[in-house]
Amino acid sequence: SEQREAGPVRTTCPYCGVGCGVRAAGGPEGAAVQGDRRHPANAGRLCSKGAALADTLDDRGRLLRPVVAGQETDWDTALDAVADGLRTVIDRHGPEAVALYCSGQLLTEDYYVANKLVKGYLGTANIDTNSRLCMASAVAGHKRAFGADAVPGAYADAEEADLVVLAGSNAAWTHPVWFQRLQAARKANPAMQVVVIDPRRTATCELADRHLALAPGTDAVLWNGLLVHPAESDAFEADFLRGHTGGVEEALRAARASAPSISAVAEACGLSAAEVAAFYAAFAANERTVTAFSQGVNQSERGTDQVSAILNVHLATGRIGRPGAGPFSLTGQPNAMGGREVGGLANQLAAHMELTPDAVDRLARFWETEAVADEPGPKAVELFDRIAEGRIKAVWIMATNPAVSLPDADRVRAALGDCELVVVSDCVARTDTTATADILLPAAAWGEKDGTVTNSERCISRQRPFRAPPGEARPDWWIMSRVARRLGFGRGFPYESPAAVFREHAALSGFENHGARPFDISALAGLSDAEYDALEPVQWPVNAANPRGTARLFSDGVFATADGRARLVPVEAERPAGAGSDGSLVLNTGRVRDQWHTMTRTGDVARLSEHSPEPYAALHPEDAAALGLADGALARLANDRGEVLARVRVDVGQRPGSVFVPFHWSGPFAARGRVDALVAPRLDAVSGQPASKHATVLPEPF
Ligand code: SF4
Repeated sequence: SEQREAGPVRTTCPYCGVGCGVRAAGGPEGAAVQGDRRHPANAGRLCSKGAALADTLDDRGRLLRPVVAGQETDWDTALDAVADGLRTVIDRHGPEAVALYCSGQLLTEDYYVANKLVKGYLGTANIDTNSRLCMASAVAGHKRAFGADAVPGAYADAEEADLVVLAGSNAAWTHPVWFQRLQAARKANPAMQVVVIDPRRTATCELADRHLALAPGTDAVLWNGLLVHPAESDAFEADFLRGHTGGVEEALRAARASAPSISAVAEACGLSAAEVAAFYAAFAANERTVTAFSQGVNQSERGTDQVSAILNVHLATGRIGRPGAGPFSLTGQPNAMGGREVGGLANQLAAHMELTPDAVDRLARFWETEAVADEPGPKAVELFDRIAEGRIKAVWIMATNPAVSLPDADRVRAALGDCELVVVSDCVARTDTTATADILLPAAAWGEKDGTVTNSERCISRQRPFRAPPGEARPDWWIMSRVARRLGFGRGFPYESPAAVFREHAALSGFENHGARPFDISALAGLSDAEYDALEPVQWPVNAANPRGTARLFSDGVFATADGRARLVPVEAERPAGAGSDGSLVLNTGRVRDQWHTMTRTGDVARLSEHSPEPYAALHPEDAAALGLADGALARLANDRGEVLARVRVDVGQRPGSVFVPFHWSGPFAARGRVDALVAPRLDAVSGQPASKHATVLPEPF
């Protein structure tokens, strides 16, 4: 509408979990985007991706109209086709034969409707999300320790800390504005120490006093040793441990078994004893310590245990719930946390409720339905396994490109090719996944969507539209509500605005909660449409006790477990299988600074492509020489799953025995660059998160 294109509006960047505020305006002359000085996440800062947002608003390549069986059509026909297709499969094979696969790109309102449709009305928990690929181990670790999927602290804690530990995180590239804040804080407080724990020497190490280039997959040993160390030097917070935690003896026993001494830790981790001892001493000396962790910790077969090993240390030393102290999960996607709030994960219900009989009953009464799923559904990789096995016969994929981003991506693509009904909602017309669709639904994109997201510090922010969707594109919540009505669920899906969805979501968070679940935004349930539109960023919980939001959780030492105590979890520090065990190199997949996911929105922007113009493989000089690979040459990287081509980068910062390859490139951008085709679908047994950093591969000259 003309009003929408008048702008500027205050909205949020869609490219990472920092969730920076931007001021954006659109019109016939193009869009303009600036950092929002009033947003607490960034106070006006932007990174290269955020600064290029206006360049990504190119309607070329957009999916503009619904497509059924290869023919463009109108919405009524397409929605009828989706509803008829789902109904036919359910009638023939039951609800377990249909599934939704969602994305941290969806807004919370979209996610809420998706989860309600599947778990509340179709009666199956066959819904999962690409957030499983980045955050599931952190979620599982939080739940084991705190009794809830709750990030204790806030961005400002790192600025107030005397020691910041970055574990498995290249924040300089993946969470750049948070990293800029850390750089500024370090400048203001030269006594602040920064330690980076990462097998690679990344851009983040430029800020580090110490870089611990540990062997891949040995994080748990390092953190177990850090649990033992303060115990032996009498540096445990005895009062905090006694009053607010449980499980310390069991956790210590397990830690001692894998990390009996500093020299044993050093040997296991491929570090020197002096490096390990210096890190432990720095941790013990600084009460105000924040450990920020990300995919390098989570994306492992032992991801949940690695998270637990970090949380154990923070709990044992009382470094939690205080200004400048705490473990801090850096969320990958802009709304990975919002999706978790509404049950986007197959093993969770909406409003952070577990799949317990009580919660199922509560949700059934709130939603006025009898069909609430009561068994966890398959997690992302397992969901696509079921498609490959023919058990799931209809899948609806939204705002994600699993034919590129899931492990064993070739198998995923083949499974979708054989699936009876594939529906894809996307803003982009041509991706590896849309190519497999029977029905394509044009979704509204960033700049057109209207709703909320939650960033890494639990801050709920509005995403506001400032341009009209092109063609026939529609918001995801609208599309799903219309399909739900066609399936006969009209009473549960009366929504005509995202505000209406948000009010219901907020009301559910407080429904029979009584403080049992920290995720409670019931103070926002009564927002009028105008108040919702004007909602300022606010950190949950936002309830009667905290009407202005909550910067820090657990500051009273009371956790969300039944007895209010946090739990230390015994961690056995087995090294994940595949990490360099067969003479191949360990394949570490990750991001480059200026691309986003599978490049469908950033790949055509010239200024973003300059930084890393083509797929590359970074190797240590010793490995490159041994394999006959020269810097700048083309390499073929292969294993028994497939192969990719990449440009060789000889890099002294690469740990010997490992190779780093970005995962962004796919069909339209590099014919043989889908590195996730080489990643085996090995999963963390607790979280179901794939081990995307521990495949093995053999590079050779091409
Ligand atoms: Fe966007 Fe993340 Fe960059 Fe902020 S740090 S501008 S949210 S990509």
